[in-house]
Formats: sequence, C-alpha cells, structure tokens
Amino acid sequence: MELSIKQLSEEISAEAIMLRRRLHQMAELSFCEEKTAAFIKKYLENLGLSVKSGIAGTGVTGFLNAGKKNTLLIRADMDALPLDEPHDFDYKSATPGVMHACGHDAHMAVALCSAKLLAQLKEELSVNVLFVFQPGEETEGGAEPMIKTGILEEYHVTNAVGLHVMNDVETGKILLKKGALMASPDDFDLYIHGRGGHGAYPHECIDPIALSARIIAAFDMIGARFISPFAQKVISVCAINGGTFYNIIPDTVHMRGTVRSYEETVRKKIPELMEKAVDGICNIAGASYDFQYNFRYPPLINNDAAADRFEQAVTGVLGKDSVVHGSEPSMAGDDFSYFAQAVPSVYFYLGSGNKKRGITMPLHSSNFDIDEDCLKTGVAAMTAYAVSVG
Ligand SMILES: [Zn+2]
Ligand SMILES: [Zn+2]
Repeated sequence: MELSIKQLSEEISAEAIMLRRRLHQMAELSFCEEKTAAFIKKYLENLGLSVKSGIAGTGVTGFLNAGKKNTLLIRADMDALPLDEPHDFDYKSATPGVMHACGHDAHMAVALCSAKLLAQLKEELSVNVLFVFQPGEETEGGAEPMIKTGILEEYHVTNAVGLHVMNDVETGKILLKKGALMASPDDFDLYIHGRGGHGAYPHECIDPIALSARIIAAFDMIGARFISPFAQKVISVCAINGGTFYNIIPDTVHMRGTVRSYEETVRKKIPELMEKAVDGICNIAGASYDFQYNFRYPPLINNDAAADRFEQAVTGVLGKDSVVHGSEPSMAGDDFSYFAQAVPSVYFYLGSGNKKRGITMPLHSSNFDIDEDCLKTGVAAMTAYAVSVG
C-alpha cells in the first residue's frame, strides 16, 4: 500500500508537470480566476467527482464520496500576481502583467493529481475528500467567503490540509512545523492632518511630516517596550505620502503599514497601543488624525495531532528523511488559517528549490520558478495523508 502511493505519485509526475504548466500559462489575478476554475472543474468532473463552481466568486469544490461520515478538506489557492513574467518558457504566462509567482499553479497541480490518485484509492479511504480551490489568497482572501457558504457543514469536514511551495527547501523534502506557523497579516491606514505653510516658518504650521517621524519611533517602542519579548510581532510602516516641494510643509501625511502577530491578546492590544501613541503625539501638536486598522487573516496555527499524523503518513511513504522540522514560524500570512481555525488542520511547505539548477528565487519575485520534481512529492504527501486520516 505505502509503496504503491510512492509508485503512483512517480507515475503521475509527468501529468502533474503538464497540469502545472497549463495553469501557469493561464495565470489570472485574484477573484478573476475564471479560465482556471473552468479548467479545474472539467478535470474534476472527468474524475467522476461531484463538482460545484462559482462559490464565493470563482471558487470550485470537488467532492470524492467514499461513503464515509467525515470529510478531509484539501485546499489549493488559484490566484496569480500582478507581475510581468520575464521567462521565455513556452508555457510562460499568456497574459502580460500577470504571473504565477507564488506557486499557486503548483498547489493546484498537486491537488488535482491527488484527486486523481485518491479517486483510484477510494476503497482505502476512511474519510471522504473535499477538494477546495479557492480564489483570492493574495488579496482579500477566498477562504472565509467559501466557508461562509456552508461548505464545511455541507460535507461534514473534520480535517483540512494545505501546502505552499518553498524554494528555501530542496525538492524532495517537506518542511513541517507544529503550532504557530504564520502570522495574522493585519494592516493600517493613518492620516495625520496638520496645517501646512512655509518651510521657513515651521512654528506657524502644524508639521505632519515631523509628527509622522515621532509616530514611527513610537510604533517601534510598542514592539520593544510594551509587548512581551516572547511574543512575536512586527509593526512596519511601509508607505508614507506627503509633501510636494523643498519649502512647503504639507497639510496631511498618509502612512500605511502592516502588523504581524500570533496571539489574539497581542493582536488586539497592538492597535490600541498604536492609536494611543498617535493620539498623544497629535494632541501635543494640535493635529488631528484618522486611524483605520484592518484585521485581516487570523494567524495560522497547525494542530499538533494532525501534524504528527501527517508526518507519520508522509515518512511511511517517502522515508524518514523526507520531512524536516521548521523551528521558527514565519511572519507571512495565508488565509488557509480560516480552515485551520474551523477544524484540526495541517499546512506544510513543499520543498521546491534546487540550488544546483539555480532554482532559488523567493516567492513574489518575477524570476520565481520551481523545480517541478517537487510536484510528485506533494502528491505523495497529500495522498498518503488522506489515506491515513480516520
Ligand atoms: Zn503569495
Ligand atoms: Zn502563495
């Protein structure tokens, strides 16, 4: 049985590569994944799954009914990024300015081939399997709106699994980490309204640029002095817009940034502390402000028991050395976290790098590429895990 999953995934490797290339070529932006959705729908229907499309926009589900009570959810994200692809592959993105530079093409190929293998192995399953292809991971997120349509209840989903390719890890390996894995990627907009005037007479103005410098220093102090050093957090101001000329103090400065954390208490405390700092600094100067804080995806926390089961299943098929353990969580975010919040879940990194072949570029780089040999490892891991879930 275990050997045969490895063999089956070797045999399906060429098809996985073909699927990945087809999907790579039809790269579409968040919530515009129409051709992609149609392609997935057709593939799943041909496997005999019961397929629904148009969920939360372009989302697709394929249900493999093994006649069991509970269901494992396998998730793949579908969207590409607004980047021009510089590669000259014959399968390079057909749409200028849109490119699969986050590997979601690989995630879909792994999920589709896993669907094909699991349809063949239906008799071995102790759960049904729901394949979820979600839109918009890179923007507002398609996971939450898909969940809100009731898919978890409808199919009695009791476990979920997701993946992301990673070029820091060599192909053939899987990186697994229990517990906290990814942060909540919250963000904010801050407008500081001062009173503009001549740069030679700052005392007659309320200078929003000088205030923004003090506000950034205060934000740094929140992380350093107001939150426990043991709690991971990041507050980064990533955009400041204000002013036009050498000697004109502007009326307004607009600041934007991102805030990352893992613990709910910390997550709630940070915006309160930020607003307190902004309020104090603006008050002293007589400025006013608009502070808008946006809570985005929750942190992604792996379930320990699910991670153990996953490791056992994968090493049983691919060998003891196939799984390496991550020690640090990442400050990136992924809306798989909504599934992980709802049911015990495991999210793993599929090694897709190959130093010898020069495949090392990071996600979101226009030079991003993967070693396609990783796809069969992903299929073997997904399939082995699905067969192990009871
Ligand atoms: Zn991404
Ligand atoms: Zn991604």
